[in-house]
Amino acid sequence: GVPILLHYFFYRAAASPPSSNFLLLGPSGAGKTAFTTLLEAKSSLASTTTPSTHTSQTSTLITVTLPPSVPTASNRYRSVNDPSLKEASRNPIKYRLQDTPGHGKLRASQGIAELHTMATSSDSKSKLRGVIFMVDTAALVDEAVLRDTATYLHDVLLVLQKRSLGKGRSSTKRAAEIPVLIAANKQDLFTALPPGSVREKLEAEIDRVRKSKTKGLLDASMDSAEVDDGEDEVLGDDDAQGVFTFRLMEDVGIKVDVTGGAVKGDPQEAVGSGVRRWEEWIGMCL
Ligand code: GDP
Repeated sequence: GVPILLHYFFYRAAASPPSSNFLLLGPSGAGKTAFTTLLEAKSSLASTTTPSTHTSQTSTLITVTLPPSVPTASNRYRSVNDPSLKEASRNPIKYRLQDTPGHGKLRASQGIAELHTMATSSDSKSKLRGVIFMVDTAALVDEAVLRDTATYLHDVLLVLQKRSLGKGRSSTKRAAEIPVLIAANKQDLFTALPPGSVREKLEAEIDRVRKSKTKGLLDASMDSAEVDDGEDEVLGDDDAQGVFTFRLMEDVGIKVDVTGGAVKGDPQEAVGSGVRRWEEWIGMCL
């Protein structure tokens, strides 16, 4: 009996691989590797897989178990007595997380390219459910770091915007939404900016990036008549008159959340209560 049951269990587990993918992006040093390692360690408590070691130089794809206590979009109204809770702990929900290197040089070739591939994939088995963009909230006071982070985020949002507006597609058949979580990491540090100011700083800096890109496009179109899809290249509204806010992205179908947390440090002490709120965001995408 038991071996057959076990076999059945493992067979079933193997037969239904997780179909929800998340992409982890962000500049190097933000804590992506630490986050991936933590999630994998947490998941291995529930299963038999051993965490692998990661470096920040290559992309890694890991399978993560969502803690059963984290609600998902489909079961958020259940009560604690709901039998589906028990069911969830017996048959936990899994998702896949793709980590990418954040180094400037590797960004275009790996991070943005990966986003492009995953976001435009028509394969339902590798559906991209959300993008997690991690930032080091203690490092954002540095002008150079802020500029670098905002430039990367700008490019990420632009890829999603282009996909969402779907050039050439009929406007009635919009692509499924891919929301963005800005994971404001390292909230355990003294010097960390609170999520509210992280949002403001990034918005203001993206505005600057956007304005300078618009100007660049205008200059380029003066030089040659080749730039015909200029409007696609601008993040948010067509006219870059107003100030950029993440709210603007909702108009093009992209929801952006800024949520604090800490991969390291005492979860009890941490302002952002560890990584729980990010897991809750993930749950709401499932
Ligand atoms: P990556 O380049 O984005 O993969 O960043 P890493 O995961 O390598 O993290 C960079 C550094 O930040 C490492 O020394 C981590 O230990 C540290 N780190 C990551 N998350 C936190 C956090 O929440 N709080 C603190 N204080 N340090 C963190």
